[in-house]
Amino acid sequence: MRHFDVIIVGGGAAGFFAAINIAEQNPALQICILEKNKEGLQKVKVSGGGRCNVTHAEFIPQELVLNYPRGEKELLGPFHQFMTGDTIEWFEKRGVELKIEEDGRMFPVSDSSQTIINCFLAEAEKYGIEVLYSQNVTTLDVEKSVDGEMEGFKVQTKDMELACDKLLIATGSSVKFWKLLERLGHTVVAPVPSLFTFNIKDKRITDIPGVVALDVEVTVLDSDLRSEGPLLITHWGMSAPSILKLSAFGALELAKKNYQFQIEVNFIKQTFEDCLIILKDLKQSLAKKTVYKLAKYELPKRLWQQLVLAANINSDTRWADLNKEQLEALASQLTKAVFEVDGKSTFKDEFVTAGGVDLKEVNFKTFESKLFPGLYFAGEVLNIDAVTGGFNFQNAWTGAYLASKAMSS
Ligand SMILES: Cc1cc2nc3c(=O)[nH]c(=O)nc-3n(C[C@H](O)[C@H](O)[C@H](O)COP(=O)(O)OP(=O)(O)OC[C@H]3O[C@@H](n4cnc5c(N)ncnc54)[C@H](O)[C@@H]3O)c2cc1C
Repeated sequence: MRHFDVIIVGGGAAGFFAAINIAEQNPALQICILEKNKEGLQKVKVSGGGRCNVTHAEFIPQELVLNYPRGEKELLGPFHQFMTGDTIEWFEKRGVELKIEEDGRMFPVSDSSQTIINCFLAEAEKYGIEVLYSQNVTTLDVEKSVDGEMEGFKVQTKDMELACDKLLIATGSSVKFWKLLERLGHTVVAPVPSLFTFNIKDKRITDIPGVVALDVEVTVLDSDLRSEGPLLITHWGMSAPSILKLSAFGALELAKKNYQFQIEVNFIKQTFEDCLIILKDLKQSLAKKTVYKLAKYELPKRLWQQLVLAANINSDTRWADLNKEQLEALASQLTKAVFEVDGKSTFKDEFVTAGGVDLKEVNFKTFESKLFPGLYFAGEVLNIDAVTGGFNFQNAWTGAYLASKAMSS
């Protein structure tokens, strides 16, 4: 049986980041990564549409944590130790420059996730980290001495048995590995999808895929879930940050509803009453103009036209001819349009799973298990996930870094 000082199960974002940092802090340690696939870092490869949204330009820990529906409280301390600025510096030190996009997302200037992969592989090689591919870890045991003292860990794959003093679990959202951890004694919060788009079949949006309303307010009816931001009409329904935020913060609640619910969209972020006053003014000031033809509120014309038709206003009706019911119906479509959500779709740029190792069982100073000294977790294996924008990787970097500090000592 081969013995290592440190074994890392999972050659993904958190696994590689931890291994490199452990090696840098203590080059004397024998470190091994066990990865079940023929190649590692596969999610990094496809991340951010192939560009890898490495982190997000948010530099205040108290603000950064607000992007984590699960993990907000627990990540505050760790972010004081290692967060966005440290990530930027870490990559810069290794020749990878990051750039900030308008919405705060950060990518390598190459716009290619391969840059990040090349960096990790080169660093792993530089430090002599053994990366063993096609090694699916199927058993995990704690080794104890005769008097019950913990002495390390034993892991097994189809063709190998390995032992180590310290073990980092960085297996991402692997259901099979969560089962192994449950068998060991850890509690795992049942996984449900997060970061998805809403399927909506509705006449108002069927013919206008690609249309974006820049700043809307979306509420899930019969719940406290509410969000703001851009909204994109897709071929299947709705997407973009206003929807994705709801899918993340409502991951558990929406799963319970079996993804069948109603949303109310306020396209202009104004009250019905205020909107009605403005529409009545427009009835006077634009009396001779056709309602359908001239979009108001800086809404995309095609969306405005659909809302006008939905308010029972014909395409040739003039403002002066609008009756009270039509004015109210238009104000209603603009400020509280209800849509039926019937299922969800995957958001291709980034998706994660809510659920994972119960955070109560982890010490967030070191990311060590409270049940098994010497056992550490980082990344998505924990019950931590974030909204879209680079925050999920930041969780992987932060956890892996703090675990590496503890494991290298
Ligand atoms: C399409 C897509 C795009 C994304 N884009 C972004 C983005 O741009 N920005 C962002 O912040 N987040 C993004 N995410 C989320 C991000 O990829 C994850 O949060 C992140 O990869 C988690 O890192 P991790 O190391 O915990 O898990 P992973 O990167 O999933 O790595 C886990 C590794 O463990 C291995 N493994 C699992 N079980 C075993 C086992 N039993 N034995 C051995 N190995 C095992 C897996 O094969 C895998 O290589 C995206 C996700 C997806 C799916």
